[in-house]
Amino acid sequence: MESTNNIISRRHFLRGDFSNKTAQMFPPWSLSGNDFINACTRCNECINACPEKIIIIGEGGYPVINFDHSGCSFCQECVTACNEGALSINNTEQLPWNLTANISTECISLHGVTCRSCSDSCDEEAISFRLQVGGSSQPEINEKSCTGCGYCVVTCPVNAIKISENIAHEEYDYEHY
Ligand code: SF4
Ligand code: SF4
Ligand code: SF4
Repeated sequence: MESTNNIISRRHFLRGDFSNKTAQMFPPWSLSGNDFINACTRCNECINACPEKIIIIGEGGYPVINFDHSGCSFCQECVTACNEGALSINNTEQLPWNLTANISTECISLHGVTCRSCSDSCDEEAISFRLQVGGSSQPEINEKSCTGCGYCVVTCPVNAIKISENIAHEEYDYEHY
């Protein structure tokens, strides 16, 4: 029987709930669920290959995305570098991940300060602003356009943007973790 300590939901993994650290996300085009955990040998090849330097060593030595300094250009260099198939693209329609940006109430635009840094950095034009009563503007994410690339995260002066998954996922088995 599996130990409960070895089972961490993907949602918890994304939130980093099991360690109360920063949210963690696997690299783009990672296998889903336990398949990624089982396939990834923690060789760090994807980390070395990423030109944006956004892949770091996360919990258990698994590669995770960090948007502190840059975003994902979806160059696929990490996928090419992964010899284990833990990152793989099976068809051209396959999305890199199910991540989108979310903006919290910390956003200074909501509090009367003019700021458009996030929308200026978004090549997908996925962020628009809606004028509120009183003159403030509320940023809104178009989830259909947002790729979860994270470039807006880097530019936000008050760290109001988080990238997160928008669908529920199964649980990972951390038996060998
Ligand atoms: S797709 Fe490119 S930029 Fe994105 S994580 Fe992989 S190597 Fe880095
Ligand atoms: S994550 Fe990327 S696509 Fe989405 S809003 Fe931010 S910059 Fe635009
Ligand atoms: S960059 Fe940050 S503070 Fe500025 S409008 Fe966007 S979410 Fe708000």
